[in-house]
Amino acid sequence: MVKRIQNIKKRIQEAADRCGRDPSTVRLVAVSKTIPIDRVKEAIEAGMTVLGENYIQEAREKFNRLATYPVSWHFIGHLQSNKAKYAVRLFDMIHSVDSLKLARELNKQAQKNAKIQNILIQINISKESSKSGVDAANVLDLIDQVCHLENLSVKGLMTMPPFFNDPEKARPYFSALRNLRDRIRQAAPPEITLDELSMGMTGDFEVAIEEGATLVRIGTAIFGERR
Ligand SMILES: *Cc1c(COP(=O)(O)O)cnc(C)c1O
Repeated sequence: MVKRIQNIKKRIQEAADRCGRDPSTVRLVAVSKTIPIDRVKEAIEAGMTVLGENYIQEAREKFNRLATYPVSWHFIGHLQSNKAKYAVRLFDMIHSVDSLKLARELNKQAQKNAKIQNILIQINISKESSKSGVDAANVLDLIDQVCHLENLSVKGLMTMPPFFNDPEKARPYFSALRNLRDRIRQAAPPEITLDELSMGMTGDFEVAIEEGATLVRIGTAIFGERR
């Protein structure tokens, strides 16, 4: 695993170099969904500092057993409002906020926990009906409302393009997310800087970095195929 992680870091560095970006502006989120605790530990010991989880129940168990490790937990899966309570307790960043209803519930729970919850807005950039996320056309409205929720801090946008064997085919979706971010930034209140772009996975993270990703969510390239 150490070798794999070294290799990914090198590829991140090279992708950043290609487009004149500082590699330290790209954070690697190790996606540990369905991966057993011992392997997650191994990844932490190999230097991973941000873990991405998709399922609340699974994340709670892992969190309890890995509580002594100095890692940051990010939620990247689909989140139902009735799980907001747990999400706020466990996660430093929630990548998948896709409705005002969910945002309000997260805000309420964050208030209870005296916490400012960092969130990203998930965008359905490809408009596939199977994908969750807000339509690009509705993001500004959503952000206008979410920025009144005092215990939430909107840090940026997240997307998952359709799956392609050729990562170049994902590029237009990544650049569309960046362009959308740039447009919203101009129209949104100045305190909403939207610095984070969560995009890119095992198959396409280099292209995502070239298009401005600041958070790449990588599972398979670190842990191998999930069972
Ligand atoms: C599983 C998952 C990933 C990681 O995918 P890999 O192809 O294994 O790198 C990234 N983002 C989300 C939202 C996921 O669910």
